[in-house]
Amino acid sequence: MPSGEYDVMILGSGPAGLQAAIHATRAKVAVVVLGRTQTSSLYRAHIENYCCMGKVAGEELLGQGRSQAERAGTSFADEDVMKLWREEPWFLAKTESGTTFRSRALILAMGVSRNKLNVPGEKELLGRGVSYCVECDANFFRAQPVAVVGNGSAAASGALTLLLYASDVHLISGGLQVSEVLDHQIRQSSVHLHEGRKVTKILGDREVEAVMLSDGTRLEVKGVFIELGAKGAVALAGELGVALDTETMQYIVTAVGCACGSGFQPRMGDVRQPESEGPRLLNIPSPSPCGCPVARPSPRPR
Ligand SMILES: Cc1cc2nc3c(=O)[nH]c(=O)nc-3n(C[C@H](O)[C@H](O)[C@H](O)COP(=O)(O)OP(=O)(O)OC[C@H]3O[C@@H](n4cnc5c(N)ncnc54)[C@H](O)[C@@H]3O)c2cc1C
Repeated sequence: MPSGEYDVMILGSGPAGLQAAIHATRAKVAVVVLGRTQTSSLYRAHIENYCCMGKVAGEELLGQGRSQAERAGTSFADEDVMKLWREEPWFLAKTESGTTFRSRALILAMGVSRNKLNVPGEKELLGRGVSYCVECDANFFRAQPVAVVGNGSAAASGALTLLLYASDVHLISGGLQVSEVLDHQIRQSSVHLHEGRKVTKILGDREVEAVMLSDGTRLEVKGVFIELGAKGAVALAGELGVALDTETMQYIVTAVGCACGSGFQPRMGDVRQPESEGPRLLNIPSPSPCGCPVARPSPRPR
């Protein structure tokens, strides 16, 4: 287990953290990555939209990223950070085993966790018809019936996007809360809107076959897109006084164009507040615009 002093400490071992690690280590500074690759949201994904790669499993892509970082010289500790604090000039992190790491610079790349429906079948059929990302997975459901679950604009615009792919799109919403324009678009479109209902169960043996609604309706679908928003792994960031998006308190606010903050660079990948940089159509590469400058550390003080 590595411990001790580093130039750059990265929290998160998903694509954002790994990308930052590769860049920073190649700049010949000491880098440690804390966190488990297996809990990256990419780990169980099947990816088709990543430049220069064909179809690839998330686990494999992350494995390659980790090997690349290790070859460059990055140290890894597969542990969650429980506590984060500042003692000038250090950032200190205590992991679940009680080990303390300290570093001159800190990068937060802890991703987000999608809000769950918490119904039977959701967990079991994840990646086998259940998805949390329309942009990532719409293409897998060409000419097949799908359902989208959610009340907000992500669900509504996701349903409209899916019309370009799927044979039938059902939008299941306890009550749509979207702008007038989006509401009008949905009602004028061929999306089947099931308002005032909830999904009680996702059915299927090896793959999604249907969803059950609270009024007893059974919808035969091959895909279920759950668009209920996301929680950022921001509690730790809060301990450092990092500004959060005031509306959702779920993302770290970042400056458009990745302007530098003072002292450290707080954000990578899905931790960032997405709307501030326009629509996010490519998820995995989202760290890249900020990744390179973020991971180029300041010179070590003499
Ligand atoms: C089912 C599914 C399919 C997807 N398919 C695609 C696709 O096809 N194409 C695409 O571009 N994108 C896809 N995505 C989105 C993609 O997975 C994310 O955009 C990407 O993983 C974000 O990278 P990240 O590094 O910011 O966060 P993550 O990959 O979520 O990584 C976060 C990391 O932070 C760590 N962490 C969290 N808390 C702590 C802590 N306290 N201490 C230490 N470490 C911590 C976690 O262990 C993890 O290693 C998919 C997502 C899902 C869920």
